[in-house]
Amino acid sequence: MASIFTKIINGEIPCYKIAETDKFFAFLDINPNAKGHTLCIPKQEVDKLFDLDDDIYLELMAFSKSVAHAIKKAVPCKRIGMTVIGLEVPHAHVHLIPLNTMEDARFLSKEKLTDEQFKEIASAIKAHL
Ligand code: 5GP
Repeated sequence: MASIFTKIINGEIPCYKIAETDKFFAFLDINPNAKGHTLCIPKQEVDKLFDLDDDIYLELMAFSKSVAHAIKKAVPCKRIGMTVIGLEVPHAHVHLIPLNTMEDARFLSKEKLTDEQFKEIASAIKAHL
């Protein structure tokens, strides 16, 4: 069965899209630690990040780096943190999280955003790509 993220790539589940290439896709996390929390994924459905082939893994890092720079320009924060967890969704993904305090990296306190706020953040990030 296709992962929820494959369904997002295929447009079967809506998302706030940030970027797309032939191999990668980036979109806002629906339950963000902070405004601008973004997920970067390979289109190839592989569960664990470190099981990706080296070339895809390295290209995903380069893709994530370009998205991180755009987030940093669009969202006021001290820096962009990068986290890999994968306990919830078995499709490799990199969390890019705007950080102001250590709390923002802890996946405990979540930011509630409206549809309008998600759209505003997505277009602000896209404007810097
Ligand atoms: P992890 O697998 O790294 O533990 O967490 C998965 C992440 O994906 C969570 O931060 C969660 O909020 C996010 N997520 C789960 N389902 C969806 C979804 O349908 N849409 C979006 N945009 N994010 C999701």
